[in-house]
Amino acid sequence: MLGIDLHGGQADAGCLLEEDADQPRQELDHPGVNHAKIESALAVLWIERYMFCAQRLDLRQHRPDWGLQFLRLGGRLHPQRYADDEATMTAPMPSQDASSCGGERVLLRTGKDYLAALDDGRKVWVGNELIDNVATHRLTRDYAQRIAEFFDLHHCEDLKDVLTYVDAQGIRRSMTWFQHRTKEQLVRKRKYHEFVMKHFVAASCPRTPDVQNYILVTYIDDPQPWETAAIGAEGRGLAENIRTFYRHAMDNDLVCAPHFVDPQADRSDPSAHGTSPALRVVERNDEGIVVNGVKAIGTGSAFGDFLHLGVFFRPGARGDQIIYGVCPANAEGVTIVCRESVVKDDPVEHPLAAQGDELDSTVLFDNVLIPWKYVFHIGNPDHAKLYPQRVFDWVHYHALVRQAVRAELLAGLAILICEHLGTAKIEAVQSRLARIIGFQQSVHAHVIAAEDKGFYTPGGLYKPDIQLFNWGRVFFLENFGRMIHELIDLCGRSALMFPTEGQWQDAGMRPWFERLNRGASGEAYDRIRLARVIRDLYLTDWGGRLFMFENFNGTPLQTLLALTMKRAEFSGSGPLAEFARKVAGIATRQDGTATTRPSPTRPRRKTRRDSIPGRGRPPPNRRRQP
Ligand SMILES: Cc1cc2nc3c(=O)[nH]c(=O)nc-3n(C[C@H](O)[C@H](O)[C@H](O)COP(=O)(O)OP(=O)(O)OC[C@H]3O[C@@H](n4cnc5c(N)ncnc54)[C@H](O)[C@@H]3O)c2cc1C
Repeated sequence: MLGIDLHGGQADAGCLLEEDADQPRQELDHPGVNHAKIESALAVLWIERYMFCAQRLDLRQHRPDWGLQFLRLGGRLHPQRYADDEATMTAPMPSQDASSCGGERVLLRTGKDYLAALDDGRKVWVGNELIDNVATHRLTRDYAQRIAEFFDLHHCEDLKDVLTYVDAQGIRRSMTWFQHRTKEQLVRKRKYHEFVMKHFVAASCPRTPDVQNYILVTYIDDPQPWETAAIGAEGRGLAENIRTFYRHAMDNDLVCAPHFVDPQADRSDPSAHGTSPALRVVERNDEGIVVNGVKAIGTGSAFGDFLHLGVFFRPGARGDQIIYGVCPANAEGVTIVCRESVVKDDPVEHPLAAQGDELDSTVLFDNVLIPWKYVFHIGNPDHAKLYPQRVFDWVHYHALVRQAVRAELLAGLAILICEHLGTAKIEAVQSRLARIIGFQQSVHAHVIAAEDKGFYTPGGLYKPDIQLFNWGRVFFLENFGRMIHELIDLCGRSALMFPTEGQWQDAGMRPWFERLNRGASGEAYDRIRLARVIRDLYLTDWGGRLFMFENFNGTPLQTLLALTMKRAEFSGSGPLAEFARKVAGIATRQDGTATTRPSPTRPRRKTRRDSIPGRGRPPPNRRRQP
């Protein structure tokens, strides 16, 4: 029996117990990983990714040598140009793309429809302001516009093989809803996510609709246990609710923003969580459940059609706090309270940070009625201990894919700035750059390996290896801060000290700034473009929030480490210990426990101590187990 202690001291029945049932135990030497293939794929990807960094900075025109030789000032990133690059990475897959109805039906939302849907009377605070319309208010409109662009992009004819698929009924849908049942399909889905990340603010909008909705896969993959384990929802057809809602969300391209992690209650008090203001069911009637309290944190809540409610179990959670389902963002009694916005006004000075703030929020529920059709599970803390890690797995895999893209951008920026400064020619700087590149390569290798070692879920989805993508996240989180510091250090003053656009355009000052920013290659203005991106990503409050998100979204580092040691395969009876046991000459019993083999050396001589009554070797059944 495995135990998982997610946040407190006591051991709980573990989520990983059921994962173990899904996942074949890991082979010690990972025989399924084709290292040669990974290496050559990495080499190709690295070149493509380098190109991406230059493009993202509007720096185009590939010349054969590395670095700032890539630079030429260009217009904004154009989907066509981007698609050309991506096309090499996206081989069409067969599988779900079957057209059975002759003509193709298209179910893809438009940006216009999305923006109109936001004006639905929802109650949203951002900092000190009550927002009249999320689609138009100055604090929210930029991000709303990004999401509208997300939907519109799916209609681009030249991107349809990357962003859409045709399902078994002949309906063309967003890849958001694509269910991967083979490794190739998983890779196809990942490339879709990568495209979205790169297109939207250089992987700095971590919660676009494709990832918000990825989480719903957990329910549709295996709906029945959510109903069977529920307490207080007998006869309410919860498994059917899941199926019906999933189809409704898919047919309308809805956005469901997840709210799982409950209040930061006093962890030293075992009863604190149970008495916290965490959302709870206060009434059940024929229409649905009435809920009251708080969902303490969710990202992008203000921009969702539905608030996806769940629980990441914490010791002390009570049955009435266990709620899984969805609630319309504009439901009566719901108030979405967002933190202060960090969006910037000036798109020239802040090319990334002015593109929007996805906003994190606390959601207050004042006796809100949630109809039964939106309820997926209620009432059972044991279920909440067991299942939600599955929900998080999709976010974690997606997080690693995003982190690989962010590592790639960081490496590209480091190369470009060092080439501009001329320091890239110094050997000592080259080895510092090599470490940054090694960081990017290693994060990406975790993505590929996790996909390679995937397994099948109860519903037949092909899921990447949980350990490998989580260890990729751990590696990223442990090193990202150091890598950022290294990049900033390599920039010297140039990450901060550069003229504003107005200063640069001033005829009197311009010649001075041109001379001041002249580099080893490229134009003087290129350094300013690079510096703006580096400042936005790593030296603004907008960039700081992104760092916070990366660190804390999903299961935090300490918990990942703790979860690893709850897995049977890493205990004394697992394959790692088995090898060491063989080397040490320790036999394994039938029941999986170990015992010491008789020593092959000479028999032990009798000592005087052996002759003292009661002081000899203990009988075999009392020997200490290793
Ligand atoms: C920007 C941002 C966006 C987010 N978006 C979402 C979202 O969309 N949906 C959602 O559901 N949640 C979201 N979260 C919540 C996120 O999942 C949690 O912040 C995260 O799980 C950590 O929980 P916590 O904040 O309660 O920290 P705590 O659990 O209080 O942890 C605080 C610190 O104490 C340490 N700690 C706590 N317990 C232990 C222990 N037993 N052993 C060792 N160390 C321990 C932790 O490692 C951490 O360093 C978001 C968070 C942030 C910051």
